[in-house]
Amino acid sequence: MNKWVYGFGSGSAEGNAEMRKLLGGKGANLAEMSNLGLPVPPGFTITTEACNSYYDNDKRYPDGMKDAVAGALKKIEAETGMCFGAPAKPLLLSVRSGSRASMPGMMDTVLNLGLNDETVAGLAQISGDARFAYDSYRRFIQMYSDVVLGVAHHNFEDILEVYKEDHGYTLDIDLVAEDWQAVTKAFKDKIASELGEPFPQGPEDQLWGAIVAVFGSWMNQRAITYRRLHDIPGHWGTAVNIQGMVFGNMGNDCATGVAFTRNPATGEKTVFGEYLVNAQGEDVVAGIRTPQPLTMAAGDGGKSVAMEATMPEVYSELNAVFELLEGHFSDMQDIEFTVQKGRLYILQTRAGKRTAAAALKIAVEMAEEGLIDKVQAIRRVDSDALERLLHPTLDPDAPRNVLTRGLAASPGAACGVVVLNADEAEHRSRAGEDVILVRLETSPEDIHGMHAARGILTARGGMTSHAAVVARGMGRPCVSGAGELTIDHDAQTFSAGVTTVKAGKVITIDGSTGDVMLGRVPTIEPKLGSEFTTLMSWVDEARALTVRANAETPEDARTALAFGAEGIGLCRTEHMFFDEARIIAIRRMIMAESEKERRAALAEILPMQKADFVVLFRIMAGLPVTIRLLDPPLHEFLPRTDDEVADLARATGRSEAEVRTRASQLHELNPMLGHRGCRLGLSYPEVYEMQAQAIFEAALEAGSEKGEAVVPEVMIPLAATRREFDLLKARIVTVADEVAKDSGKELNYLVGTMIELPRACLCAGEIAETAEFFSFGTNDLTQTTFGISRDDSVQFLATYQELGILTHDPFVTLDQDGVGELVRMAAERGRATRESIKLGICGEHGGDPASVAFCHEVGLDYVSCSPYRVPVARLAAAQAAIGPPRNE
Ligand code: PEP
Ligand code: MG
Repeated sequence: MNKWVYGFGSGSAEGNAEMRKLLGGKGANLAEMSNLGLPVPPGFTITTEACNSYYDNDKRYPDGMKDAVAGALKKIEAETGMCFGAPAKPLLLSVRSGSRASMPGMMDTVLNLGLNDETVAGLAQISGDARFAYDSYRRFIQMYSDVVLGVAHHNFEDILEVYKEDHGYTLDIDLVAEDWQAVTKAFKDKIASELGEPFPQGPEDQLWGAIVAVFGSWMNQRAITYRRLHDIPGHWGTAVNIQGMVFGNMGNDCATGVAFTRNPATGEKTVFGEYLVNAQGEDVVAGIRTPQPLTMAAGDGGKSVAMEATMPEVYSELNAVFELLEGHFSDMQDIEFTVQKGRLYILQTRAGKRTAAAALKIAVEMAEEGLIDKVQAIRRVDSDALERLLHPTLDPDAPRNVLTRGLAASPGAACGVVVLNADEAEHRSRAGEDVILVRLETSPEDIHGMHAARGILTARGGMTSHAAVVARGMGRPCVSGAGELTIDHDAQTFSAGVTTVKAGKVITIDGSTGDVMLGRVPTIEPKLGSEFTTLMSWVDEARALTVRANAETPEDARTALAFGAEGIGLCRTEHMFFDEARIIAIRRMIMAESEKERRAALAEILPMQKADFVVLFRIMAGLPVTIRLLDPPLHEFLPRTDDEVADLARATGRSEAEVRTRASQLHELNPMLGHRGCRLGLSYPEVYEMQAQAIFEAALEAGSEKGEAVVPEVMIPLAATRREFDLLKARIVTVADEVAKDSGKELNYLVGTMIELPRACLCAGEIAETAEFFSFGTNDLTQTTFGISRDDSVQFLATYQELGILTHDPFVTLDQDGVGELVRMAAERGRATRESIKLGICGEHGGDPASVAFCHEVGLDYVSCSPYRVPVARLAAAQAAIGPPRNE
């Protein structure tokens, strides 16, 4: 038969720290602390399996559980010398939830259980303090009613406030025993009138009511939401921890407090904690009284009121416990304790939550102290947290007025004046203003404005929309797809709900949460210390995947290098075309109606492209650089405004009407599936030829400067068939041969393809016969596999996640079951044909930790991501390589 209950206390326990699955984190650690001989009030844990069985069996307890609880209760009675429900020496209990993962504040707790109209008198007698006893009783009624009976807390707060007012009291501390007795009676009356039955007096009834409530709290809405947000499966269940009560509120030789063994905000190796004399744990949490510091070193006034000064003996005992627990668990601990009549009790220990900066510092310092090894240090830093460290964050203490929310598309926080178009963004930023560019959506033409802006806010567009991808690449915070937003260009305003904001007003965006706020919320600039460099050096030793960056501008390439990129995995050449000086030449090329005319325009672009590539090769100094030939539909380059039409008419010697006609010829209904990628290269081969020439000439030039050959990787986008690839490769090879011949130099290069279409995955074996590398373009591959537009999916993807159809936005985290299966298949088929084929990923997933882990598992050679995510990808790659700890 299953064992449903595990006891602990007085120097031994039936469980231990390894048993978190069964006992939950709290229960496992209470057992461990008992085994370590620490002063833990005796108690027992009802297992998570019991909780699961309860749910599996129509909310009935498993056989044997009731007897096991009764037996365990007897042991507490024996150890404490108290008796559950006995008026003379009542044993009181705490009942607390505790799942495998910490879910702070999500589930329920009941303290002082066992008090009733009779036992309260016993408590008054034993403690010699009637005031304390009735205060404890009213706290119990309040908590129990809220958690178990469903009579909300505020009902009691209201009664208490009225009572205080009627009696001229200001503080709770002013109330004497008779007052609490009266308040308690009023509480019970309230419950009876709300529920039509009296407050339960039987301790057994109270206990089982509390157990049901804790089991029930596993399925409350806030716990369900928390689990969804933190990827905690529902089938883990919660344990219930039942323990003899100890009291921190029995007088001035009592106290209660919490402590972190290191500073959870900074990671500094100093105890960080607070305590309250004559108080119960909830008083510390409630924040009604201001807790005092534990150590004299901590802050103003610490010297006289610190526990170190007021209770030196207890403090030194506590300090020894901190050292023991931190050393034993090899991690920073968050510890709850109570002092009852000068005697210390430890109520809980767990790994302390910490900021990203603290996580990094603690991990590195603990490894240097020899408390953990490098592998553990790598595991300890959450890759998402690392991402937050690299960007400005909002001052957590600053007030905020949230206007609306969108997708957290590119991390970091920024504030500035609202600007509704890219030119003005550039203009005002040149004049020294911080601007936030607010657009319905962005297009490549907005790049200069996005670059000039501190942050970008769009009404439309998903996580791989233009705005999101480009902002991430530039390291600009971005909130995209804020669907509530409307923009009125005539009035120069945008609105969200009932609020209208004029251009020129200040807003703040948080691209890490998706929040859009009115006014300026101060931000904190990131600071990376030596711990970052140290950890990253360990990370680099541990990982198998190479990490490259998606970058095209010199600035992005330099940033990528500084963050440790080992090459460029994707240079989107179209991003180089939107410079003011170039766009006209590009548009002339698009307007051209003959090859000759097109070649003339391309000849103008050639030296500019070549110069771009020379700079890129120089910066990357021999590291691999993959350059993708033109990908987007020509549609995207068309003039939009009347001014742009007029400019182009002037530049091409055509009438505005002719320009408009050509534009409408090129207009596509579904450009993402239209005339783009290699289809363009096949229709207008001279475009790819120009680009190939620019790449090869630049490679030779940069190579000769360095005295070392540059080996460019030329990449063809959106191929679905081997024939498409072969036709274009042949053209590229011809250009290479010509450049080599003209220069008299040898040219080394690779020609490969993006894999962005399901057909390309299916036929990867065939394509690999001629393609020398594959780069998985998982943005498009996700779009084409699901048949979901990457730009238009914001509205329904959220619903899909709520309905559990998708667990994640598939444009953020690779859908391993579907899209991932295609990647796996293409990698296998590609390698079967060409063993040495280089395999990488350059969709946005290349910077997403879970997707990086998948890439490691599939055995790709590299991931490529935006420059600011390079450290995240390096860490994720290392974590994937070392795997989880053995006991998880
Ligand atoms: C992709 O589709 O994954 C990709 C990297 O290309 P783009 O985002 O430019 O379409
Ligand atoms: Mg693509």
